[in-house]
Amino acid sequence: MAHYPAGAPVAVLTTQPLDRALDYRAPAGGVTEGDFVKVPLGPRTVLGVVWGPAEGDWPIEKLRPILTVLDVPPMRPEFRDFLERAGGYTLTPLVAMLRLALRAPGLGEPPGKRKVYALGTGEPDRRTEARDKVLDVLRDRPADVFGATELAEAAGVSAGVVKGLVASGAVLEQALARDADFPPLDPARPGKPLALDQADAAETLRAAIRAGGYGTTLLKGVTGSGKTEVYLEAVAECLARGRQALVLLPEIALTAEFLTRVEARFGARPAEWHSGVTQAERRRTWRKAAEGQARLVVGARSSLYLPFRDLGLIVVDEEHDTSYKQEDGVLYSARDMAVLRAACEGAQVVLASATPSLETWANAEQGKYARLDLTSRFGEARMPKLRAIDMRAEELPSGRWVSPTLQAAIEQRLIDGEQSLIFLNRRGYAPVTLCRACGQQVGCHQCDARMVEHRFQRRLMCHQCGETAPIPETCPSCGVEGKMAVAGPGVERMGEEVATLFPEARMAILSSDLFGSARALKARVEEIAAGGADIVVGTQLVAKGHNFPNLTLVGVIDADLGLQGSDLRAAERTFQLMRQVSGRAGRADKPGVALLQTYQPEHPVIRAILSGDEEGFWAEEAAQRRAAGVPPFGRMAGIVISDPDQRTAFALGEALARRAEVMEEVGAEVFGPAPAPIARIRGRHRVRLLVKAPRQSPIQAALARWVAQVEVPRSARLSIDIDPQSF
Ligand code: ADP
Ligand code: ZN
Repeated sequence: MAHYPAGAPVAVLTTQPLDRALDYRAPAGGVTEGDFVKVPLGPRTVLGVVWGPAEGDWPIEKLRPILTVLDVPPMRPEFRDFLERAGGYTLTPLVAMLRLALRAPGLGEPPGKRKVYALGTGEPDRRTEARDKVLDVLRDRPADVFGATELAEAAGVSAGVVKGLVASGAVLEQALARDADFPPLDPARPGKPLALDQADAAETLRAAIRAGGYGTTLLKGVTGSGKTEVYLEAVAECLARGRQALVLLPEIALTAEFLTRVEARFGARPAEWHSGVTQAERRRTWRKAAEGQARLVVGARSSLYLPFRDLGLIVVDEEHDTSYKQEDGVLYSARDMAVLRAACEGAQVVLASATPSLETWANAEQGKYARLDLTSRFGEARMPKLRAIDMRAEELPSGRWVSPTLQAAIEQRLIDGEQSLIFLNRRGYAPVTLCRACGQQVGCHQCDARMVEHRFQRRLMCHQCGETAPIPETCPSCGVEGKMAVAGPGVERMGEEVATLFPEARMAILSSDLFGSARALKARVEEIAAGGADIVVGTQLVAKGHNFPNLTLVGVIDADLGLQGSDLRAAERTFQLMRQVSGRAGRADKPGVALLQTYQPEHPVIRAILSGDEEGFWAEEAAQRRAAGVPPFGRMAGIVISDPDQRTAFALGEALARRAEVMEEVGAEVFGPAPAPIARIRGRHRVRLLVKAPRQSPIQAALARWVAQVEVPRSARLSIDIDPQSF
């Protein structure tokens, strides 16, 4: 590794979109590539990393000095290589990549001790609601290490409440070294005895880890087939070989349940990294990952940017989940970045899913990824039967959505004491609020979107920008009073219908906006799982990962919902979502049924869902994408330009379109400018150009040259999205 005795290039952390290192004068003894340093920048002192390679000769005496070299393990060359390549792929400046990698407060400061709090053995001398909240937090998240303020904040109470609990002995106060080690994990503890296909899959993964080096495997298996048990065996092998492992989960699936499973397998909890983790814990996890002491990290997508010392395995669970694609700031797909990181580190990747993305499926078909299949559910559980309800043949009064056939099926479950799930992927009460006098729909004043009524909050809400407004009595357009009405169902309105149809049943609505915190949601889910509801009405939220053992019926209100529109991924998404949500039925020993209400039962996607012919579906989808030359068979990029003024945005788009030869030279086609799928968000007009190119085309370099040719006005923003999710 390069040593710089005199002048050194430093990648600094600034708010400017700097894409290169700046030169500084090294302290006596010099610095080495990867060293963390503090340097002056303008009037401030900023964090930086000694980068490379060196540019050439420096007028040393003119350089500003490196102020300190931090006592932090240096950034390894493999990791710097990853940041550069990831930045190159997503066209993200180095400084923005660095920001992702340095999300740890207090780097390099002496650790010291801090007071932390845990459940004590004493009973509170007096119980209050505030005190119960604190105890709930500690019971719920025992892996988190809380300071007094953090604990009070997490519980939503004042710090005095914590003090009171400490005095009574119900909460324990301890001094903890800030950078205390994580408890050791024991990979030699026996796991669950595996079923035959599980054991085969686990052995294949273990062998790949023993062989060393990079490789990616798709682990495909229906929900409940035991994928988690299988990849935990791969984690065990990785730990046994002294290397670190990372398990990525969609944020919503980072539950205590998962951590408990890890603890059951390895005897201790892993380090966690996600939005709910305290600052002090972040610092500790970052540091321990760099030292190699944190052996297993379980985290959300941003944990890909932790400075692991020796990463041997990355698991991406639910690899198809759309939340893995970051949609603001640095645009990246965590799945693709995981593969890139593993390639840089010489690590294995396991992509686990019941319904893989087409990209991953195609990569496995082409032999770029290995593939392992678990074909049946573990133990007695069977896959649910899927059937269509042809809505053209059902008698339904207007303003009602539960067909008589579905209604009868729910009634039967109520008689049998089993649970039903009514699924509608639409938050709120009704998607449209309109005036019956003039026909005008209420829209958001700053977005190109309708305002959606949320009856529980008694507000209209824009699902683009979050803006809310009171529900109007008079029409905002024509001023006529008392004619406002709603149209179409949202999940809250479905709840109302269910309550009318089954007045005796206990009903629960699960929609993300109805819960103040992840904790409140979790508590409700546990209650339902324990039998606390007969009918669950839910959005996409319920399609993900929750286990309701007594649930035997899934009724999909509108299976056609996702098939509208021109999005090329509509078929793939609908297929995945329908399979996921159907998979909620019949998890334990009771068989399940999923009934899909549809107006087009002969639609190829609906037929594929019903027949369960996954391979046929993917092959057909793949053939269509291949013919159209779109991902994963061709490359795409979206350029989104936004400006408060529509003409400015379009003018910039047109200026780009006029200079498209750079793109044509690398074999790319340019489409647009056209209004973006959502043409206005938060008062900014959005215009999009799409670039389509052959698979091997070097589009990143061409894109960079292309956009550099136009002047972006101060008011405008231009962002490049490689592999956009919708096209
Ligand atoms: P997936 O990740 O494919 O959805 P899980 O790994 O969560 O499946 O397994 C589903 C259920 O079956 C879980 O409750 C799990 O504990 C149980 N299970 C899976 N494999 C085994 C096994 N070999 N022995 C005992 N229980 C198992
Ligand atoms: Zn809005």
